[in-house]
Amino acid sequence: MSQCFDFIVVGGGIAGVSAAYELAAHGSVCLLEREHQLAFHTTGRSAAISMESYGNQQIRALTCASRAFYETPPEGLAEHPLWAPRGALIVASQDREAQLRSRYDVVLQQVPQARLLDAREVLELVPYLAEGRWHAGIYEASAFDLDVHGIHAGYLAGMRQRAAVVRREAEVVEAVRSQGQWRLRSRDGDVLQAPVVVNAAGAWADELAALCGVPTVGVRALRRTVLAVDPHCDVHHTPYLGTLDEDIFIKPEAGRLIVSPCDETPSVPCDAQPEELDLAITMDRLESTTRLRPRAIVNKWAGLRTFVADRSPVLGSDDQAPGFVWLAAVGGYGIQAAPAIARLCAAAAMGHAMPVDLQGLGLKYEHFAPARCRDGEFLKRQVTRVAHLH
Ligand SMILES: Cc1cc2nc3c(=O)[nH]c(=O)nc-3n(C[C@H](O)[C@H](O)[C@H](O)COP(=O)(O)OP(=O)(O)OC[C@H]3O[C@@H](n4cnc5c(N)ncnc54)[C@H](O)[C@@H]3O)c2cc1C
Repeated sequence: MSQCFDFIVVGGGIAGVSAAYELAAHGSVCLLEREHQLAFHTTGRSAAISMESYGNQQIRALTCASRAFYETPPEGLAEHPLWAPRGALIVASQDREAQLRSRYDVVLQQVPQARLLDAREVLELVPYLAEGRWHAGIYEASAFDLDVHGIHAGYLAGMRQRAAVVRREAEVVEAVRSQGQWRLRSRDGDVLQAPVVVNAAGAWADELAALCGVPTVGVRALRRTVLAVDPHCDVHHTPYLGTLDEDIFIKPEAGRLIVSPCDETPSVPCDAQPEELDLAITMDRLESTTRLRPRAIVNKWAGLRTFVADRSPVLGSDDQAPGFVWLAAVGGYGIQAAPAIARLCAAAAMGHAMPVDLQGLGLKYEHFAPARCRDGEFLKRQVTRVAHLH
C-alpha cells in the first residue's frame, strides 16, 4: 500500500523544511530525509550570518525579501528571536582601495546606510586586526546573526502545525512517474505517491534528479572549512569580518571566533570533513590578518556549499519533467534567503505567478529556471571563483 500526498519534499535541510512549511498551507505534505538528524549536512554547518549585499543581484533581492520573516516570524513559529544584530565589515589593503570603492557603490544600491571607514575607524571597530595591514573598509550595520537551529526548528514546528508529515532515515532510492503521479520508494521499503516532488536534496540534488529520470543541471558541491579559536579577548561586540578578496572570514560566536579561509574545494556529495592542510592555511591567514595568536583549535568542521555556474539557485518547475520542482544550488545564502526562496518555490510548485513582492524586486522565474543550466554555453562556465587554497 502506498500513501498519497499532494507534495513530497526530499531533503530535511533549511530548503526542505521551509518549502514544506509553505506548501503545507495549500495541501498535504510529506518530507523525506535520509539522515536521522534533519539538518545534519550543510544547514547544520553554516556561519549563520545574513548580509543583504552578499551574492549576485537575485540573491541580494531574495535576502532583502527574507528580512521581515526573521524580524517578525509568523505567529507560533518561534518563541525566541531568530536573529540578533551583528554588523559586517569588509576590509581591504591600500593597493585594493579602488576595488573597495567600486564595491561600495554596489553595496549602496542594496544597503544605503553602509559606510566607508578609514584605517583608524576599522581598527576601532575590530581592535584585534593587524595594525597597518588594513587601509579601509565597508561597514554594513544592518547585517545580522541568524539562529539557524531556531529557524530550522521553527519551520519544522510550523509545518507540523499544518499537519505535514516528516520521515527520517527515509532515503529515496527509487522513483517513477506514471499517470500524473510520482511513486517514490524509500530505503526501508515505504512507497509514497504525489503529483509533485520538490528536490531539496542539497549536494545530492543532481543524484536525486537522475534517480527520477530527470535531466541534471550541473550542481557542484564545494567544500568550505571552518574552525573555532579562543581569542583571549572580548570579541562579543565585534562585527562579522571579511576581506575584499574573500580569502578569510572571522565571526564571533559565543565568546569565540569562527574562522574560514573561504575555500571552495570541489567535492563529491558526502559528509564533508575538514582537511589538515586547510586548517593549517586557515590558522596562517588568521595570523596574517589579525594580531591574534591562538594556542589551539577548539572546534572544526566543513560543509558543502552547492552552486551552478551563474551562482543563482535552481528553483521552480522543470519544463522537461512534469511535477518535478527544483530547490537546489542555494550556495552560501541558503539560510539568509530561505523565507523568500521557499515562497517562490511553493508558488512555482502550485503553478502560481511569482509572489507580487518578489516581482516588485525584479525577480522572474526565468532567473532560476532549471532549463538555463542545460544550455551548452552555461555548462562551459566555471563554477569556482578562484583556486584559493591549492
Ligand atoms: C561553512 C559554511 C558557511 C555558510 N554560511 C552561511 C551563512 O552565513 N549564511 C547563509 O545564509 N548560508 C550559509 N551557508 C550556506 C547554507 O548553509 C546552505 O545554503 C544551506 O544550508 C543549504 O541547505 P539545503 O537544505 O539546500 O541543504 P542540506 O542542509 O545539505 O540539506 C539537504 C538534505 O537532503 C538530504 N538528502 C539528499 N539526498 C536524499 C535522498 N535521496 N533522500 C532523502 N534525503 C536526501 C540530505 O541528507 C540533506 O540532509 C554556509 C555553508 C557552509 C558550508
